[in-house]
Amino acid sequence: MRVSKMLLNTLREVPAEAESVSHQLMLRAGLIRKLAAGIYSYLPLGLRVLRKVEQIVREEMDEAGAQELLMSALLPAEAYQASGRWEVFGADMFRLKDRGDRDFCLGPTHEEIFTETVLATVKSYKQLPMTLYQIQNKYRDERRPRFGVMRSREFVMKDAYSFDRDNAGLDVSYEKMYHAYCKAFSRMGLDFIVVDADSGAMGGSGSQEFMVKSDTGEDTIAYCPACGYAANEEKAPCAPESMPEEEKRALSKIHTPGVRTIEELVAFLHTDSKRFVKTLLYQADDQLVAALVRGDREVNEVKLANHLGARELTLAEGAQVTAATGAAVGFAGPIGLKIPVIMDLEVAQMTNFIVGANETDYHYQDVNTSDFEAAATIDLRTIVAGDPCPKCGLPVTTTQGIEVGHIFKLGTKYTDALGCTFLDENGKAQSMIMGCYGIGVSRAMAAVIEQYSDDKGICWPVAVAPYQVIVVPVSMREPAQVALAEKIYEDLRQQGIEVLLDDRNERVGVKFTDAELIGIPVRIAVGRQAAEDVVEYRLRTDTDNTMLSSADAVARAVAFVQEGLKAGR
Ligand code: ATP
Ligand code: MG
Repeated sequence: MRVSKMLLNTLREVPAEAESVSHQLMLRAGLIRKLAAGIYSYLPLGLRVLRKVEQIVREEMDEAGAQELLMSALLPAEAYQASGRWEVFGADMFRLKDRGDRDFCLGPTHEEIFTETVLATVKSYKQLPMTLYQIQNKYRDERRPRFGVMRSREFVMKDAYSFDRDNAGLDVSYEKMYHAYCKAFSRMGLDFIVVDADSGAMGGSGSQEFMVKSDTGEDTIAYCPACGYAANEEKAPCAPESMPEEEKRALSKIHTPGVRTIEELVAFLHTDSKRFVKTLLYQADDQLVAALVRGDREVNEVKLANHLGARELTLAEGAQVTAATGAAVGFAGPIGLKIPVIMDLEVAQMTNFIVGANETDYHYQDVNTSDFEAAATIDLRTIVAGDPCPKCGLPVTTTQGIEVGHIFKLGTKYTDALGCTFLDENGKAQSMIMGCYGIGVSRAMAAVIEQYSDDKGICWPVAVAPYQVIVVPVSMREPAQVALAEKIYEDLRQQGIEVLLDDRNERVGVKFTDAELIGIPVRIAVGRQAAEDVVEYRLRTDTDNTMLSSADAVARAVAFVQEGLKAGR
């Protein structure tokens, strides 16, 4: 491709709206263009990368025995109504009506539609197992679209679904996907870890997420450097920290005027936050509940929602808190509270602690769990760095991660709901056992940039680079330079290399800056020594040029590209 003919619109300035490195670089390199919040067009360079990421995923899915198909993104409501997710998705689902007033949505994920398809086409155990997939746009009206295509409202997902006759079969299908994911992400050059993930309130027997370590990641991962255990913090079990035993004292009320937060209490009472128990009120679907954790801990909302089987869980509003406690916000406590109290395991072991008194400006001290009634005592807090590893007990570390893939043993949730059965050897109808497997294709593309960039721009790994080599004539006014650049360009094309020729009438500085920004892995610059057939060869990650004959430069570029394409396979 000749750069002079290309739709290329690089920006020198960092766009103000872009918070993450990948979002900034995708805009600056002209890979994407924003249409609305969380909605982007892929410009030619960006589309080439997206297609490569897709193709890697496709090849690994095919290799694992999955079959590709393509469904509509515009979906009738019925199957989602049957599974209950027409309600569960709530405002996240883009909904619309046709001219006959029938309900439709833009597919946020396709479990129901795959189940329907298999139900209509697969009848016998002889046809199982079967894994189907598609690579397609998904639509979710995210509460907070951000980081460009990382969390967008239209995004490309590879979604696969396996159908098995029993759990042993599901384990095999799941294992195949696990390995296909590892290969696909390795081929993209991603440094990832696989973590145990939450399976949600709706059950399922296991799930793992593929996380790319990055500061911009919205997920927190707890991992153990000693034994390799890794889990999403939503999921990681927490052991209670043992506290010194004390003789239980009788509770008493203390006057704490205007002292609402744990920090204020610590200062006011000159004590440690570990002496307090926080009482947080949550609206869980249509009930109000109180959650208790030690003063220095955080409530894990996923664990709480799972325990309650709640679809929606939000912190209660100030007015609700006042109505339930009879006190201003900041003075809630479990004693005398009329709503269900869910207590963390750690709280159950504490003695003589401090809580709000459900009376403005008052707290109780020397509280013990016998002073109130808890509806349940569960693991309710979020793991933090230094907590004991759930597997080996040594301290865990935490890091931020970008979830690029998710694999999930679903079981029979959808096949039961929609009646997707097969006939076994005895002619008996049985529900198929499902697994589902997603890859955020567009998010993975952004994740690659998060891991492969420097202060000048993107440094694409060869396997996903939009072009592999760029040939830059230093001056378009020098016929010798232009002729040699053209020859190198042709030679590389002949050898199947994806190559750009920067034939623009621009200063060489501009050309080099653009080549660095868009991240082409190999640059061959043809300058003053063109007449002697000497060119400058340089990798995007190098700091120096190597002077080579044009033939050597071509040979080196070809070898480098071939090596890069093999990497991770
Ligand atoms: P998240 O927790 O990030 O919202 P999710 O659990 O909703 O993800 P899944 O429903 O499992 O995601 O979707 C499969 C994959 O699709 C995810 O692993 C992620 O890589 C990608 N994905 C999900 N939501 C988005 C989005 N809004 N924009 C881009 N990619 C997304
Ligand atoms: Mg989501």
